[in-house]
Amino acid sequence: MRRIGVLALQGSFIEHIATLKRLGVEPSAVKLPKDLVGLDGLIIPGGESTTIGKLATTYKLIEELKRLGEDGLPMWGTCAGMTLLAREIEGATPPHLGLMDIAVERNAFGWQVESFEADLVIPALDRVGSEEEKGKRFHAIFIRAPSIKRVGEGVEVLAALDEGIIVAARQGNLLATAFHPELTEDTRFHRYFLNMVGSGQNAA
Ligand code: GLN
Repeated sequence: MRRIGVLALQGSFIEHIATLKRLGVEPSAVKLPKDLVGLDGLIIPGGESTTIGKLATTYKLIEELKRLGEDGLPMWGTCAGMTLLAREIEGATPPHLGLMDIAVERNAFGWQVESFEADLVIPALDRVGSEEEKGKRFHAIFIRAPSIKRVGEGVEVLAALDEGIIVAARQGNLLATAFHPELTEDTRFHRYFLNMVGSGQNAA
């Protein structure tokens, strides 16, 4: 049984836990460093990245999360979680993990009221899709979302908006989405992540 943790300091962790349960995984909520022991994968949810970063520092999670990410633990950051994974956050240096070779702009699309939804073409999801899901666009919900402004050499771009703005990427054991798959019924991204967990990417 794969052990998936969901960082449960602030934000939409309950929704990620519910989606994982629908997929037959029994996830655990991570609040303290001891909750990280024995995990096969970790999801960092959306919410407010500065708050999550500060709480992770207070609870002494930051260093341990960095170490696990560097050791190859599969990690997926959604929205604020993506910002926490990024090596560079434009215009600021709040506490974050800096694991993934991407530069992120927070609130790249404006205020909360400018949140939007978009149907994205994401060929990588075909790997986990059923016959009828193949080629189907992914309905993505953006809530005061960040965008990816730069990707490093080893980073695979998974999805972009029509105007070319990058909104999902992967670098080995690290997955980042600017949007919130846990708020939709479509479980393909969660299955994609479980696939990463199960594919032996984890050198930890
Ligand atoms: N704007 C938020 C932040 O950067 C992220 C929003 C979200 O996770 N939905 O903290």
